[in-house]
Amino acid sequence: MHQPHDYALRWIIESSESKKSPYLVDLGAYNGVGECQCRYWVCQVGPRVKRGERVHCKHVRIARERFTNWSIEAFRNHDKNQKQYEQ
Ligand SMILES: [Zn+2]
Repeated sequence: MHQPHDYALRWIIESSESKKSPYLVDLGAYNGVGECQCRYWVCQVGPRVKRGERVHCKHVRIARERFTNWSIEAFRNHDKNQKQYEQ
């Protein structure tokens, strides 16, 4: 199970090109649209995000997926000994 970097919304995502260093993705940036350090985000995605579009690079998509999985696991553990969602 992948874990967040330092805060729940900050994830280190590896580059698909193994020689390149990994990118820090901040899922909370830009009202939750997210920000990445990769060249594609900086040159192509970022300018659109800054105009208000909700677009992502692949690293932000990967980080969102990992955040979802991590959150589900955290809530499963949290809920384990609690009353289930009964009426
Ligand atoms: Zn990226």
